[in-house]
Amino acid sequence: MKKRYAMAVDTRRCVGCNACVISCKTENALPEGGFRDWVVQEVSGKFPDLAMEIRSERCNHCSAPSCVDACPTGASHVAEGGVVGVTKAKCTGCKACIAACPYGARYVHPAGYADKCTFCLHRVQLGKQPACVETCPTRSLTFGDLSDPGSPVAQLVASRRHKVLAPERGTEPNVFFLA
Ligand code: SF4
Ligand code: SF4
Ligand code: SF4
Repeated sequence: MKKRYAMAVDTRRCVGCNACVISCKTENALPEGGFRDWVVQEVSGKFPDLAMEIRSERCNHCSAPSCVDACPTGASHVAEGGVVGVTKAKCTGCKACIAACPYGARYVHPAGYADKCTFCLHRVQLGKQPACVETCPTRSLTFGDLSDPGSPVAQLVASRRHKVLAPERGTEPNVFFLA
């Protein structure tokens, strides 16, 4: 079966330490002010019954990616395993994809192209885990092939209560937040 790379983010394990953010910056040599992942802390409920969710977010590598549809040059594309990528040489920096992404997952690199999470495909192709996944000290992040029912990510998504962000936008995200 065709590979479908996905990530499960366990919001019960995440402590908001930002190690995922730092490791991504280092691994991918991101420029100052450029981020491919970030940590959100969301408070819900009414005092005194408050709950806080901490989650590490990044591009959702959507199955129906609005960024790819919006890109006028074909720079934004779907690559191996459903990973959404940007071909630097084809990108004019027009920002159409940035406007089309409901998740704020992209930014303009100082070199003039749109940049975002790649699921660390360069590492995955070598049999390694994405840098953020490998670094997370609480094992909050699980990456793998969702179309393989035996993979840890597929088992987590099958067995745990979860959500995706902004499902109403119809982008069909492949990053699942475990509650
Ligand atoms: Fe959360 Fe892990 Fe990222 Fe730390 S490294 S913020 S625990 S996901
Ligand atoms: Fe595109 Fe945004 Fe979905 Fe990533 S999260 S695939 S940038 S629409
Ligand atoms: Fe950054 Fe790689 Fe993690 Fe994406 S998968 S957020 S590119 S470290």
